[in-house]
Amino acid sequence: MRKGQRHIITIDGPAGAGKSTISRLLARHLGYLYLDTGAMYRAVALAARRRGLNESDTSAIVKLANSVSLRFIGDPEDPKILLWDKDVSREIRTPEMDMLSSSVSKIPEVRQALVGIQRQMGLSHDLVAEGRDMGTVVFPHARDKFFLTASTEVRARRRYKERRERGEEISLDSVITEIESRDLQDSSRAVAPLRPSPEAIVIDTSEMDIGEVLEVILMEIRPREGE
Ligand code: C5P
Repeated sequence: MRKGQRHIITIDGPAGAGKSTISRLLARHLGYLYLDTGAMYRAVALAARRRGLNESDTSAIVKLANSVSLRFIGDPEDPKILLWDKDVSREIRTPEMDMLSSSVSKIPEVRQALVGIQRQMGLSHDLVAEGRDMGTVVFPHARDKFFLTASTEVRARRRYKERRERGEEISLDSVITEIESRDLQDSSRAVAPLRPSPEAIVIDTSEMDIGEVLEVILMEIRPREGE
């Protein structure tokens, strides 16, 4: 790593692979900023929904993505996301925003707008950057890249548990169907599809608890120069 360059750790993978939990833990452990890029796509989706747009209103969504005000505040390792200065951290986590964020993220100009903000953050902070294209597109020169995955069944069970705990009446089957359709949409899109960067260390978390995943990642992170 050149002097003055920020240390970026990328964590990519499909929904339910454990990315958010591990990214927060890792950011706390290292004293880095946690960059939740999924929250940014979700916030654009929410802004679109509030304006009554749907996924086919591409040019209006692109305009929105280029004019939207997005900020992270609070705990560096567990920040809140502000959309036009209002905390929307809870509202972006609904099944509707799961799917709409995946749809808006297929639009190349939306990605371009958000990638610009993401790279900017990587210039001023050491980051744990979580998403789908962190290692492949946004930070291709990141020193440490990870791709977390797990079987569809395990990922769906994790999401099912979270949502039941929030009081939602859902079935495991419906969560499996949603996860499969989001995986398909995220990995088959033309721009920045979900896939591991060739340099990424792939970790299957199906049979691991979060402590074990953290241990593997910490072992793999290369020490900074001079350490
Ligand atoms: O990670 P999370 O589930 O919050 O992301 C929501 C959606 O945003 C994903 O399904 C994906 O379509 C999109 N996304 C993306 N690129 C990223 C992060 C998220 O396309 N870097």
